Amino acid sequence: MKEENRKQDKFTIISELARRRGFYWQSYEIYGGVSGFATYGPLGARLKQNIERKLRELFVNKLGVLEIESPVITPEKVFVASGHVEHFREPMVECVKCKKRFRADHLLEEAAGVGEAEAEKMSLAELNETLKKQGIKCPECGGTLGEPKQFLTMFKTTIGPYSEAVGYGRPEAAQGIFVEFRRLYEMAREKIPFGVLQIGHALRNEISPRQGLLRVREFTIADLEFFFDPEEPDCHLLKEVKDEMLRLVLAEHRLKSSEKITEVSVAEALKKGYVKSEWHAVFMAYAKKLLIELGVSAENQRFIEKLPWERAHYSSQSFDQQVLVERWGWVEVSGHAYRGDYDLKQHAEFSGVDMCVFKEYEKPVEREQLVIKPLMANLGPAFKNEAGKIAEMLSKADPKEVEASLKKEGFFKLGKYKILSEHVNILRQKTAERGRRFIPHVVEPSFGSDRLLYVALEYAYRVKEDRALLSFPPDIAPIQLGVYPLVSKDGLPEKALALYRELIDEGFVAEYDEAGSIGRRYARADEVGIPLGVTVDYDTLKDGTVTVRDRDSWRQVRSPIKDLPHLLHLYFRKKIDFDALGTSI
Ligand code: AMP
Repeated sequence: MKEENRKQDKFTIISELARRRGFYWQSYEIYGGVSGFATYGPLGARLKQNIERKLRELFVNKLGVLEIESPVITPEKVFVASGHVEHFREPMVECVKCKKRFRADHLLEEAAGVGEAEAEKMSLAELNETLKKQGIKCPECGGTLGEPKQFLTMFKTTIGPYSEAVGYGRPEAAQGIFVEFRRLYEMAREKIPFGVLQIGHALRNEISPRQGLLRVREFTIADLEFFFDPEEPDCHLLKEVKDEMLRLVLAEHRLKSSEKITEVSVAEALKKGYVKSEWHAVFMAYAKKLLIELGVSAENQRFIEKLPWERAHYSSQSFDQQVLVERWGWVEVSGHAYRGDYDLKQHAEFSGVDMCVFKEYEKPVEREQLVIKPLMANLGPAFKNEAGKIAEMLSKADPKEVEASLKKEGFFKLGKYKILSEHVNILRQKTAERGRRFIPHVVEPSFGSDRLLYVALEYAYRVKEDRALLSFPPDIAPIQLGVYPLVSKDGLPEKALALYRELIDEGFVAEYDEAGSIGRRYARADEVGIPLGVTVDYDTLKDGTVTVRDRDSWRQVRSPIKDLPHLLHLYFRKKIDFDALGTSI
């Protein structure tokens, strides 16, 4: 995008509006600002809480997953076991002249138009060669770039005053769930499947973040780890979303340099094997619906299948949910990974704690087992004082092998000894198996609140009659209601304030404003996305009705004050639309 176009693109406009009206801005401004950190102001903090509330409503309230909160600082052992210490690295180059450092693969993408997938695949040597071949210089000063190196993007610290007690800021909330698996399984009443959600801060020491809220070094992640039995992978929620359409960019097409969209229903995606697990597909459908509820229409979303070398080290199939944004193109807002049993297995191995679950069969399963019984009465005379040793060796041998060999050869070779059928009895014993022990498999949808917030803002942004308006879906708007007296005299402010207090008491998030003309107050409210304005005027004093104004259409209806709280509750729960709030005027 050309520099002059960038100056008026949505990213610029929204960043400016966000700063001016108090959604978010770069942190530590008074010290010149630090890239990769954002502070949310009053409106932004509330918008973010509302988006996270929707995640909770969907996953915790509706699906019944457990929610936990665990620490950000994590001892090194956890990330050694999870593989992050080895793998959570990005290629970095330094300018020989100005010493600024950059993500080597991002430079190739930006300066030489190398595709993301291609750049991510390259080894350090290949990156170096391509950067040199393409003549790429430092984007800041034009200086020569050095050799790329791997940079660990976890923040390292020490725990307490002990330099040897290394800790890391977690780059994902998932490990906080895996390490607590045993307790969480108990809390799920030892029943599988079950899911655990954690919404909290994650830290990633991004090399050169230059995309505002889309790439920050401290952000909020919502990781949902869903544990299920790989032998019973059916998802009981599938029927609810089986007809939901998914727009997929499949790995098989990406390998041929195509971004062709395969549009299929969830049921078809599973049948054709595009998505391998039912749970995986169901969470993708929920993620699509969630984004629609945040204001992003289906055609501006897609799921891109990650190529093997783009996938995280723990994943066997991954899709990124992407949303189209004006400046940056397709941007990932959530990742959907099939993590298999990788994490629990690693923690079992490194901690020595058993991470298996036990699943009882409906009825015990009878199994026949072969057992070897050495016959001492015959072994003794045949092998004399070696008989005891041989009996012990025999009890460790594979009964199937012994039986087969006796049948076929007439003897079984046990080391240097020749065992005949008269030396052993091979018995068939019946045992009842009560259940099965296994490590559950995991699918993980993982959302970033900050990116969800940015896309909600970009998609809410409209210009109407030269005025900016944030057309948030009503249930995520940071402020629900503006309450205004038409003029600040003749008893109207007192009446409006009383109504404002009543609405606050009813649990609404409302703002009272009597400064300036009513037109200016409406314009201010539209710019921060307040869905409804409630105005007290002279008729209110006569007949107890108020004007309710719709932010998007600017239409107005007249409603009796006494019915207003009830009607507004219905409106914000999406049970009635604007017209049902009163009589048109
Ligand atoms: P990942 O584990 O890399 O798939 O990340 C999960 C989600 O976290 C992504 O879909 C993003 O929404 C979000 N995310 C990852 N890195 C960042 C970042 N540096 N800044 C903001 N959000 C991020």
